[in-house]
This record gives sequence, C-alpha cells and structure tokens, in this order.
Amino acid sequence: MRSSSTMRRNDLSIQGGKAQDQEARLEYLPLFLSVTHQDVVILGGSDGAAAKARLLCRAGARVRLFARTLGPEMGDLVRTGQVALAGDSPTLDGLRGCRLAFDDGADAEASMFLGARASDLGLLVNTIDRPAACDFIVPAIIDRSPVVVAISTGGASPALAKLVRQRVESVLPAGLGRLARALSACREGVKRVLSTGRARLRFWDSFLTDARLDRLARCTEEQMGAQVAEEVETALAGTADTDPAGDVALVGAGPGDPGLLSLAAAQALRTADVVLHDALVSREVLDMVRKDARLISVGKRAGGAAMPQDMINRLMVTHARRGVRVVRLKGGDPFIFGRGGEEQEHLIAHGIHPRVVGGTTAALGVAATLGIPLTHRGVARSLRLVTGALGEGMEGDDARDWAGLADPETTLCLYMAGRKVAEAARGLMAGGLGPTTPVAVVWSGCTPDQECRFCTVGELAHWTGDPRNGHPVLFIVGAVVAFAPAWTASSDQSRFQTG
Ligand code: SAH
Repeated sequence: MRSSSTMRRNDLSIQGGKAQDQEARLEYLPLFLSVTHQDVVILGGSDGAAAKARLLCRAGARVRLFARTLGPEMGDLVRTGQVALAGDSPTLDGLRGCRLAFDDGADAEASMFLGARASDLGLLVNTIDRPAACDFIVPAIIDRSPVVVAISTGGASPALAKLVRQRVESVLPAGLGRLARALSACREGVKRVLSTGRARLRFWDSFLTDARLDRLARCTEEQMGAQVAEEVETALAGTADTDPAGDVALVGAGPGDPGLLSLAAAQALRTADVVLHDALVSREVLDMVRKDARLISVGKRAGGAAMPQDMINRLMVTHARRGVRVVRLKGGDPFIFGRGGEEQEHLIAHGIHPRVVGGTTAALGVAATLGIPLTHRGVARSLRLVTGALGEGMEGDDARDWAGLADPETTLCLYMAGRKVAEAARGLMAGGLGPTTPVAVVWSGCTPDQECRFCTVGELAHWTGDPRNGHPVLFIVGAVVAFAPAWTASSDQSRFQTG
C-alpha cells in the first residue's frame, strides 16, 4: 500500500483504471476421497513413503507395498501388519485393483514400470515431493476429526503450507472434533422440531457464532444436547413473536481493507442471504459474503450510474418480506454520509427494525494508515467530518458557510468534496485559516490503490480538477497533518501543487 506521495509535480495525468480482477485458475481440485477398504499401492520403503502409509491406514485403506529396502518407520508398519509387503518390485497384478499409487522415487525401474502402466490401469500417481510428476497432491492437514482442514500451496512451498497450517491451527479450539460430533448428534432432533430448511439454517447460524465457538467446543455431548434443546425452544417461542416483515442489517464495511471490518460485520456477511452493496465496498470485503448469497450492486458513486435511493429502499423491504436475511452493506460507516439514517427511517416506516452495525469511517481509517492523529493535545481539540456535496436538488446553491468552519484548532475531514474543494479552501482562508495549513489528499484510502499527496490550504484553493477521477478522495485539513511521517519526508517536489 502506498502511503506517501508518489507522483512528481506536474505529473498529474489520470491513472489508468485498475486491472480487472482475474479469477486465478485452480491448479488442483480440492476434494476428500474415501479410501476405506480400498487397495492403495506404495512404491518404496522410505520414511516419506511411511508417512503416506500411516495417513492411508488412518483413512481405512489397505496398503500394498513394493520395496527393496525398508526404513525403520516402514519396517514397523510392516511388522505390525498395518502394511502388506507384496514384493521387491511392482507387478501388473500387484497394481491391478488400486486407484491410487504413491511412489517415493527411490527405485527408478519401479517408477518407470508404474509410469508406463498407470494410465491403462486408471491409476492416479503421487510421486512424493515431486509435484510436477503428480496426478494429485496431498495437502497439509489439521485433523480434528471429523473436522479436517486441508491446506495446499499447489506444491509451490510446503514450508508455507506448514506456516498456514500453524496459523489456522492456532485459532481453532482443541475440542472442535468433539463439538462436531455433539452437533451431529443434535441434528436429527432439530430437524424434527424445525421443519423448514430455512428455519434450521437460521437456528444454527444464531446458535453457532464465532463468539461462542470456544465455549461450545468445551461442552460435553450431554451439555450440548441440553443447550440445543433449550435454544430450539426459545427459537420456536420467538418465531410466533418475530416480525414477519423480515430481517435487515445496515452494515458498515469500512473504507476498503477487510481487516477494518468489525467482527459483527463479518458475521453479518457470513449469514446474509441477500447483500445490497455500494460501489465503494471493496472486492476483498465482498469475498467474505457467503458463496451462495445473492450480491446486488446498488452502486452509488459520484458521476456514475446509480440506483435511485427509493429503489434501494424498495429492494430492502421486498427482500426482507420474503423472510431472508438482508444486509445493506455500505462503505465506511452507514450513518456517516451514507444515507443510512434515511434507510433506517424507511425500514421502520415499513415495520422493519434494522440492526445497525457500525463501520470505520473513511476519515478514521485513512488517518490511521497515514499516521495522522486527528486530535492532538495543544494542536487540534476537535474533529469535524464535513461533506462538500449538497443535498439532492440543491446543486449550485452556494450557501455553504466554509468561512464559518475555519478554526486552526479543528481538524476538518472533507468527504465528497471533489468539485467544491477549491471553493472550500478559499472560504476557509477567508474565515482566517492560514494558507500554509497542511492538507492531505488521499485517494482510495485503505485499499491497495491508496495514494496520498500533501499540499497546503493556499495550494488547494487552486485545485482545478481531480487527477484521479473515479477514486474516492478524502481531504484532511489541519495542523495535525504535519504529524504524518510522510509529510515530513515529502519534499516540495513531491507535494501536490496546482495552478
Ligand atoms: N459512509 C462512508 C462515506 C460515504 S460518502 C464513510 O463513512 O466513510 C463517500 C465519500 O467518502 C467519498 O466521496 C470520499 O470522500 C469518502 N471515502 C469513502 N471511502 C474512501 C476511501 N477508501 N478513501 C478516501 N475517501 C473515501
């Protein structure tokens, strides 16, 4: 992420559009294969081959081994009867009837024999540690059976796969397997009481939340059964009282970086059936929405085609009345220049009481990435979030009192100010704000496209047009901007200047 000024003076050309996200090809198809009571062949007696043999035994396979020498681990497996030593070298009969073969590559002749016959026999081959010579690869796993997490880097880096595994493992509770078994035992009971698939989905989503996962994973099967029974009863009692009008959450997506989503917002995205989102919501955040949920872009972006507000309002109500969970996902915070208040009013007028999940507003996210303290003892005592856009139908009304906003001890964050920014700067100076007051201009803050340039209020008064039109831009005006490490580092050359 670029966090400092990167363009030279006079280089104000419009940046090319962002390359379209290309969906990366899946190198391998991830799947879990049942090998219970199936024959699997292994060539070679190395420790690597023994590790595969152990995994196969745990999955219930019958392992047939061809090896000239046995390492200590494979020796143990053969001695204890877990692996059947079928001979030194593979034979056609020895390979017949197997679907999978693992080869440790130690015996070139055996590998050639296998390679020449595998496709005729319909045998899939894994050559251990040589992904290029594999029909399939074996992922790194976290085994909390019946919960199994498989991790693969497509053979690119086993060390990275190990690291990812450790990271994932550290967030999974130890009792996950027991939890899965306990839940499985409750499923039929819940099915009998909650007859529709939708009611069950709702119940499980509200029962199994992120916040409860650790506690649930400590429950015994009996405790779990009692808790599920109690909550099913509450859910049944609740359905009678529940507003049939539906369920809408107004959710703030933050300025772009998915790391700035709240846990409540992430949970709402995971459980929503329909998500109505603004254009400003980043792809990374949208990727967190459940895969089978419906995503509807109601893109509202200055200058671009936008769905009229009353249509968005109608859509929320229509979907909610179908009984699905609707998330109205907005950039930043829903109640800061997001028309969230109007949407809430509309929903309440239609008998729907939305839940509101706040988000990080652009000014807070952007200031944090740039290291600008929005308030600072002795420098800025207050913060104002101001919009440059006037209300609908008020375009051309010059009534905004910019001069009245001038206060050297207040940090001003200007949203949607693109067209009005020069006028705002002139007004602020007329109100007494010094022309050397620092300004940060930040495009697409908290996204990989973030760009920041610095200038002064005096320079801003000469702003003639947005050099990065199409990217959301925020102006932070105030003495605190000079606290940004990049402000000190930026030379006059790299400052944004106009006129
Ligand atoms: N509800 C949003 C604001 C929506 S108004 C929030 O709380 O952040 C849209 C304006 O917000 C844009 O014109 C721009 O001024 C600002 N904005 C939103 N996201 C931004 C981002 N990632 N970088 C810079 N400015 C942003």
